[in-house]
Amino acid sequence: MAGIESYKAARSLEEATEILRAGNVTLLAGGTDLMPQTRAGRVKFQPLLLNLRRVPELQGIAEQGGTVRIGALVTITELMESALVRERLNLLWQSCDHFASDQIRNAATVGGNLCNASPAGDTLVPLLALDARAVLASKPNGSLTLRRVPLAEFFLGPGRTCKTPQELVTSVEVPLPPPDFKGEFYKHGTRPGLDISAISIAAGARLEGKLLRHARVAFGAVAPTPIRAPKTEAALEGRAADAATFDAAARTALEEIHPISDVRATDWYRRELVANMLKRVLSHVCQL
Ligand SMILES: Cc1cc2nc3c(=O)[nH]c(=O)nc-3n(C[C@H](O)[C@H](O)[C@H](O)COP(=O)(O)OP(=O)(O)OC[C@H]3O[C@@H](n4cnc5c(N)ncnc54)[C@H](O)[C@@H]3O)c2cc1C
Repeated sequence: MAGIESYKAARSLEEATEILRAGNVTLLAGGTDLMPQTRAGRVKFQPLLLNLRRVPELQGIAEQGGTVRIGALVTITELMESALVRERLNLLWQSCDHFASDQIRNAATVGGNLCNASPAGDTLVPLLALDARAVLASKPNGSLTLRRVPLAEFFLGPGRTCKTPQELVTSVEVPLPPPDFKGEFYKHGTRPGLDISAISIAAGARLEGKLLRHARVAFGAVAPTPIRAPKTEAALEGRAADAATFDAAARTALEEIHPISDVRATDWYRRELVANMLKRVLSHVCQL
């Protein structure tokens, strides 16, 4: 592994952030993005490779005061095995069910998915829809400092986030949606499984009588970052859960997305998928 001069496995958050403060560090979690990217020459290793896997503060899934804290090192398999995630953050759980293969899910972490910042990252779309925030840790003045960034502000472009090289992600915090909130994650790839999204959608709401409340919509692979769709949400909020509302939401969504043509799909096809599949997802959510 060219470029690596030394390797450390931190055993605490204090130790990991202290090492990061010195600079010239590559962080390693599951390695499922880092290893293929360095082998392909797209990413260069810094002189020090810092393994995070033994940092206990980055582990675990727990609910406190209406917020679920998911440690950065939690794997996709662990998310899938969590009853809390399955029952209360089902939108996120569904995205894990579409994520790669068992081998990758066993190693891939939620923190790695966040920091890789792919516009098509599967957990990012439901996490955006669920108002999640990233918790970042660093030691700017020698003492441990945390800052919280809403995911809607975390992603800056493909592979780019607002995280500084001296920071690491400790966790993602997700406020619990209302108990009657229902959501659906949809992923379209050229193959039915084991594929990167051509587009993805996370959408949900709860029904108050026939009216939509708490409308949440986010898209993947239709812009330089995964995106939340506030105008589409506004086209749903407080409206009747019917075909006319879903048509209006789909038209609004087309104003919010900026897809490109690439090896996975043309921009035209991505637009067709978003408009048609958003309507289908919404009708499933409302059981129409
Ligand atoms: C065959 C294959 C299939 C895949 N399928 C999918 C898929 O279906 N859906 C999908 O979304 N992705 C997929 N991926 C991509 C990858 O598995 C995910 O993005 C995964 O979540 C990355 O997590 P990781 O722990 O392996 O990250 P790593 O590879 O260890 O790290 C990724 C990046 O994040 C940084 N990093 C990791 N943890 C932290 C932290 N706590 N703080 C700061 N920086 C950190 C690393 O330095 C690196 O730059 C696939 C990859 C492969 C190889």
